[in-house]
This record gives sequence, structure tokens and C-alpha cells, in this order.
Amino acid sequence: MLTQAPKGTSDILPGQSGKWQYLEGLFRDICRRYGLKEIRTPIFEHTELFVRGVGDTTDVVEKQMYSFDDLAGRNLTLKPEGTSPAARAFVENGIFSEMQPTKMYYITPCFRYEKMQKGRYRQFHQMGTEIFGTESPLADAEIVSVAADMLDALGMKEIELRINSVGCPTCRAKHRDALKAFLADKYDGLCDTCKGRFNKNPMRILDCKSKECQRLVQGAPVMLDYLCDDCSDHFEKFKSVLTDMGIEYTVDPGIVRGLDYYTKTAFEFVSTKEMAQGTVCGGGRYDNLVEQIGGPATPGVGFGMGIERLMLLLGEEGISIPEEEGPDYVIVTMGDEAVSYGTALAGKLRKKGRSVLMDMMGRNFKNQFKYANRVKAKKTIIIGGDEVKNNSFSVKNMETGEQISVSAEEIDKL
Ligand code: ATP
Ligand code: MG
Repeated sequence: MLTQAPKGTSDILPGQSGKWQYLEGLFRDICRRYGLKEIRTPIFEHTELFVRGVGDTTDVVEKQMYSFDDLAGRNLTLKPEGTSPAARAFVENGIFSEMQPTKMYYITPCFRYEKMQKGRYRQFHQMGTEIFGTESPLADAEIVSVAADMLDALGMKEIELRINSVGCPTCRAKHRDALKAFLADKYDGLCDTCKGRFNKNPMRILDCKSKECQRLVQGAPVMLDYLCDDCSDHFEKFKSVLTDMGIEYTVDPGIVRGLDYYTKTAFEFVSTKEMAQGTVCGGGRYDNLVEQIGGPATPGVGFGMGIERLMLLLGEEGISIPEEEGPDYVIVTMGDEAVSYGTALAGKLRKKGRSVLMDMMGRNFKNQFKYANRVKAKKTIIIGGDEVKNNSFSVKNMETGEQISVSAEEIDKL
């Protein structure tokens, strides 16, 4: 156990972190283009933040949380998602009294006690966005556009956007009654979880992953037919802004966002390939969340994109992320004097911002070149006894093989 990470977690190794940084860098840059600013919230929160008074009926909150008592007996939970913590910070720090909207993004680990599968882990990572303070469908569309830009920039093609509206508490009540009436004679066939959902939140049954439940809900009344005028107008406007933006979508009444705080817009970006964990991004509007956690009534909309899922789907599409570059220089030395000269030179070059590596394994001359090749050095600087005497050294371009002599005064050219 000592040398085994807990089930469902993995290390991001030095050889892999470049890919993560690439994706995160791209995401940060896209967020910048939309004026979204980064928020960093704690890894754990008070459990009530996720459970809330009303009691959430989603799998995440009911069965998947890493909750524990700290030494003073406070019940805390490792964050299973990023939206509630962002909303908590929005309230706690009085951000609602600043000029709105508030546009945020985050990159965070999330923790859910799930059954391990490909693309489903216990610690995973999300890149997410939130816009607080506006009901405008422009915000919904802009949020979708951020995710679409990210997937586009990576060259992903086998992915589609599915949208739906889950209405508001008023119109949802009517749908809920219709859904319950539809499911009443099918109740016995539902899985145990869905039997529990039947009274608490029957809409969640539409999202059940059990095959039998999926079969039973075929032909069930859809929320879109029950939207009130306000929700229906909002959905129409949302779709028309997506069209303005040139974003293609499919309306899918089966998109029921997991977390109970969702209202109106719900959307997912899903792989068009037949695959189990094909949802790379999920999001929607949550106009009641801020109020539910004790803040002033404030609408909001956002998404969470799974980084591991993104990598999985990139792999499926055969898209590779650009490799990390090798160092600018490897200094190859022969003799103690050369090591000392090289060490000083490395220091000067690093101060100028160059990346410089030197052997620290006592390799011979030939093996230092092998090392330079292995780490994909762009150039090597070769220093032997003569070079130290003449205060000049050779610089070899590892790609072209071209070699030039450079005097110590010319270091600025490097
Ligand atoms: P799913 O239906 O796949 O369980 P979800 O509805 O639980 O997803 P969200 O809560 O919307 O997922 O989280 C947003 C995104 O985070 C998902 O679309 C997915 O890409 C990713 N994600 C969620 N749970 C996991 C997990 N256990 N491991 C890896 N990625 C995950
Ligand atoms: Mg899930």
C-alpha cells in the first residue's frame, strides 16, 4: 500500500504534465478572451454547502462524497464539483454588490467516490466557468461558446452539443406530476435509486444509467412541452444566440443535469462515438443556487469540463497535444575546469531566461551527448580544456548539426 496511490487516483508524472499545462494554458487563454477571471477555492468545504437544507437527490451528493470529521468535529467534504464553492465565495466575499456580471473560471481537482471505469475516477480534474448576476440567455450562449472554442481549438470534430431546458420550479412542478403519472405503473421495475427518486425528484430518473430504467422512461413526458412562457422565451433566445455565434446544437430532452440546482438551460458536449464515458463537458443555468446557500437571489450559468475525459476523447480522435520543448542548451563538458566554467555559464544563461541542463551523473563526453539527445536539447555548448583557456566555446545546433565558435563576450547572442 505504501507505494500505491489510492484507487481511482493517479499521478500526473513529469513526463505528462506538459500536456496538462498545454490544455490548461489554452483554457486560460480562451477564458481571457471572454473576460473570465480565475477563482481558486479551497479543496474542502463545509458539507452543508453541497447537501444544503433541501437535500440534493443526485448521486454525487447522496452517495459519492468524501466527507469526514476534522479534529474539532466539523463535517467537511472534498469538493465534488466547482460551482457550489464558487457560489459560496461569491456570497461570502460580497462579490454580488460589485458591478455585474461576475465572470469566473477555475481549474480544480474534484473528488467523487465512484465505481472506477475508464474516464471515471475518484480524483479527477475540471476546467470550469461561471457567470453570476445575469439571467440573459447571452450569458448561457457565451458559456457554451467558451467550451466550444476550447474543443475547436484542439481540433475536435467527433463531438456534438446537446441542449435542453429543465425549466424553473413553477413549470417543473407540472412536468413532475405528468412524469409521476407516467411512471406510476412502471414503479416496480425501477432500480432502487430511482424508486427513491420517484417522490423526491422524478426528473432524475430520466438520467439514470441503468438500462432497465432507460427503457422504462422511453416516451415519458418531456420538460420542453411544459415550459412556462418565461422559460420557453429564454430557451428560444438561447438557441437564436447560439445560431448567431455559428454554434451547432441538437435539442435533446434527455439532458437532465445532475445537480438539483439547475434551472432553464442544460447542455452537454458529448462524443459522437459509441462510448460509455463520452460526456466531456456539462453545464447549465442555476438561478436558485446562490439564494439556496444563503445569498441574495442571483442567477448564474456555467459548465464543468473533465480534463481526463478531454484527454480520453482527444486520444479517440487521434489528436496529439504538442510535445513539450526540450531545453535550449545542454552544456557538455570535459574535465573539472570545464565543469566549473560551464556551471558559471549556465548561471548566466539562465538569468537571461534560457533553459540550460548540465550532466550531474558523471557521464563521459559521449554519453553527455546521448543525454542531450534524449532530453531533446535544441543546442549543446561544448566546453573542454582549450575552450576554458581561450575563453570561447562551441555551440552545436542539434537539429542541423551546424557548429559555431562563440567567445565569452558574445554570450548575449545566445
Ligand atoms: P457523468 O454523467 O459522466 O457521470 P456528471 O453529470 O456526473 O457526468 P458533471 O458533474 O457535470 O458530470 O461534471 C462535469 C464533467 O466532469 C463531466 O462532463 C465529465 O467530463 C467530468 N467528470 C465527472 N465525473 C467524473 C469522474 N468521476 N471522473 C472523470 N471525469 C468526471
Ligand atoms: Mg456522474
